[in-house]
Parts: sequence; C-alpha cells; structure tokens
Amino acid sequence: MPSSKTRIAIVGGGVAGLVVARHVVAKLNTYSLILFEQTDQIGGTWVYTDETDLDKHELLIHSSMYKNLRTNIPKEIMAIPDFPFQDLGGPSFVHHSVIRKYLMSYAKHFNLYPYVKLNTLVKRVEPKVLRNGRTLWMVTYESLETKTEITNIFDAVVLCNGHYTIGRIPHIPGIESFCGRCIHSHQYRIPEVYTGKKVCILGASWSGIDIAMEVSQYADKIYLSHNLSEQLNSKISNNIEQKSGVESIQGNTFTFRDGSTVEVDDFIYCTGYEFTYPFMSAKVEIRTDNDHVEPIYKHLVHMDYTSLFFMGLPALVIPFPMFHIQAQYILGILEERIKLPSSQQMREEYEIEKKSLLDQGILLRHINKLKDRQWAYYDQLATVANVAGFPPVIKKVMDHVFQMRDIDFTTYKNYQYRIIDGENFSVSYCKPC
Ligand SMILES: Cc1cc2nc3c(=O)[nH]c(=O)nc-3n(C[C@H](O)[C@H](O)[C@H](O)COP(=O)(O)OP(=O)(O)OC[C@H]3O[C@@H](n4cnc5c(N)ncnc54)[C@H](O)[C@@H]3O)c2cc1C
Repeated sequence: MPSSKTRIAIVGGGVAGLVVARHVVAKLNTYSLILFEQTDQIGGTWVYTDETDLDKHELLIHSSMYKNLRTNIPKEIMAIPDFPFQDLGGPSFVHHSVIRKYLMSYAKHFNLYPYVKLNTLVKRVEPKVLRNGRTLWMVTYESLETKTEITNIFDAVVLCNGHYTIGRIPHIPGIESFCGRCIHSHQYRIPEVYTGKKVCILGASWSGIDIAMEVSQYADKIYLSHNLSEQLNSKISNNIEQKSGVESIQGNTFTFRDGSTVEVDDFIYCTGYEFTYPFMSAKVEIRTDNDHVEPIYKHLVHMDYTSLFFMGLPALVIPFPMFHIQAQYILGILEERIKLPSSQQMREEYEIEKKSLLDQGILLRHINKLKDRQWAYYDQLATVANVAGFPPVIKKVMDHVFQMRDIDFTTYKNYQYRIIDGENFSVSYCKPC
C-alpha cells in the first residue's frame, strides 16, 4: 500500500536539517521523515574535531570549527525562536561547544533522534517525473558501517548538506614555490603552531579577521591581505598589518598588488567556500559558479522541481532563526498553503531582482550575501508562510554588534546582551577573564 503521507528526505543533520526535521516531526499525521547524516553525530559544522583531512570512512572532515572559536553573533539572537539558550552569564558570544550542546538539547527536546540515520551518506538524488507530472525522488544512501546501499523513494528532498567544507582557493602565480605551511581556514584549528612566525592571511571577511586576531597572539607578524575597497578602521592587534591582495609568490617572498613585498613563513587562505551537491542527478540543473546557486527561488526552492529545497544558501544572515522561517515556508509549499508562481514566472522574477542588484553595483558573487537585505527577506517569507517574523529587537542587537565590531575587533565579543521585549534590549560589557 503506498503511504498517504508525504515522504520527506533531509540530507544533513546540522542546524538546518534539525530545524526542518523539528517542523516535520510536529506533523507526523501528514509526513514521514528520514534525516540522513554521514557522520556519527548531529550538529554539522559545530561538531569540533582536531582532525582536518579525512575521517575514518575516508570522507572529507566536515567541520570548519577551530578550537577557540566563539560565535560572532550573540546567543540571544542566534537562538532558534522556539528554543532559547540557557542563561549562562558572561559574554553573549559563546564557545562553539555551547552551540553543539544546544543543538543536541534541541534534537532531544523535539524528539528528532528517532528520525535520524547516522553514519549514512547520501550518494545520489534522482528525480523521476511521473506521467501525471508529479516528481518522485529516488534517494540512494550508503550505511558507512555495513557498506550497504539502499534506494528509497521520497516525495520531497530538503538539502541541508552545509556549505563550509570545500574551501575556495584562488590561484596565485608562484604558489607552488612556497615552502611554508599553507592551509585553508577549513583546516585551521589552533594558533599556537604559528608561534614566532610571519603569517600571511588572505581574506578579511569574518573568518579572516577572527583567525588573524587569534593567531596574532602567538605570531611575530600577521599580514592581513585583502581586496576590500577600504582599509579596516576597527582596532586590531598591533602586529597585524593590512596589505592589498597577494599578486604573486616567489619562494617565501609575497608580492602584493601595491607592489610591496614581505617574507612570509606560513599562509592561510580565508577565501570562502564552494557550494557543492555531489549527489545530485545531472537531470537537475544546478549552477554553483560565482558563489551563488541557480536556479533557486527565494534562495530556497528549485525553480523546475518545487519539491526540492536548498537550505543555507544566503550568507551574512542570522542562520538559526532564518532556518526556522525557511522550514515553515517549505511546509507551506508542500501543504499547498503557499502557491508558487510557474517555473517561467519564478525565473523572470529572479532575473528582474538579479538585474536590479547588479545595477546597484552588487557583484554577482555577492547576491546571496544578504546583510542589509536580510530583514526584508525574513519578513517576506514569514508573511507568505503566515508565521512570526523577526521581532525588531533582533535587528537592533545586530546593528549594535556591527557598531562595536567596527570600532574594536579586540573587544566586541565581550558584550552581554539581554532581550527585554520585542523592541528593546540591554547591553553590558563583561571584563575579559
Ligand atoms: C567557522 C565558522 C563559524 C561560524 N560562526 C557562526 C556563528 O557564530 N553564528 C552563526 O549563526 N553561524 C555561524 N556559522 C555559520 C554556520 O555554518 C551556520 O550557523 C550553520 O551551522 C549551518 O548549518 P547547516 O545545517 O546548513 O550546515 P552544517 O552545519 O555544515 O551541516 C551539514 C550537515 O550535512 C551533513 N552532510 C553533508 N553531505 C552529506 C551527505 N551527502 N549525506 C549525509 N549527510 C551529509 C554533514 O555531515 C553535516 O552534518 C559559522 C560557520 C563557520 C564555518
């Protein structure tokens, strides 16, 4: 007997997968669910490991956490709206282990574990379009413990496989002649190995600055190389010198775009990550060049296959609460409470929006970096899904974080935020211990 329930497959047991599962599990009269997770734990990138290359199953280590990482968003606004963090006292920017424990509590609280298949790698996702136009999804997965492969049929697939594992490495002329330690931020774990060294860090986005700040406590000198239009004005460690992008490398000599040269012992690429969907059938068009994914509607739904969903595409957002809204939007589509435009209309709408962003001078590779556009995005999805959006206080706290960060990178994570109500918050400075 075919099931009358909508069968959902979730690929990946990080935050995104867990949040989608939480909403599906709340409606088990309507849905059945399997969440596939290739590692032996839930939590995704928040599961720290000292390892950096391959795991025991010869798969790439997934996590990009480093040992001392503290969040760059205060936990009070990072929280999933229906599951606040415990009040721990101290600064709001907590160690990554706190987030991992939080996610495990979330999964336990919402009884998600029975639906999670650990040590299970999704290897293929293949659409099968029936004569009546309906699409089924053949999901082939391997138990990494027994090495058995199974294919199951699903009505919808939600891709939550994360986007911070395959580092983007720009080619720099002469890099092959460099003999020092050379890693991508994905492989960065501890600063102590850079004691007394001259280190070049390429890229000054969140990871580049954060890693520069902690490595600067051990290294002799940091060259923070970037192509930002302006120098960073925020206070940084005294031994960090900003440089323009790396033009070329000859042995240990790095030449920057302004023509200056320095001697470097070690090099860290903090140059971002690639989107990858290695399991996806070639029948499904997915373009991942230029640091964004197409053809995806509302950063979430495939324009040709509206039962295929992509979580985690927008960057410069507040991911956990965003996932909470996105998950409910997905269920709205599956339950036909949300009517999507035709594939053609979605493409037209997307192209108009893209052109408008390009006309405003936003580069194609930055169109998924929502930053100031994130608030309108949340409002739009929440309104259509008929669920609560972000209360104004979230933006106010985030604006305060940016203000403090723009003044002083060395102290902005020492603040403690308290949400008073939907509009107001209080903030106090905690002395570093
Ligand atoms: C260094 C770093 C610092 C960050 N700091 C913050 C922060 O302070 N605050 C914040 O809100 N966000 C932060 N982020 C963003 C963070 O990525 C998101 O918060 C969030 O963890 C993304 O969750 P996800 O579920 O999309 O992906 P992930 O957490 O990466 O989870 C993806 C999961 O999918 C699994 N998987 C992948 N492929 C397969 C497959 N084929 N079969 C089965 N399973 C598969 C993986 O094993 C993994 O468990 C940070 C990210 C990084 C890398």
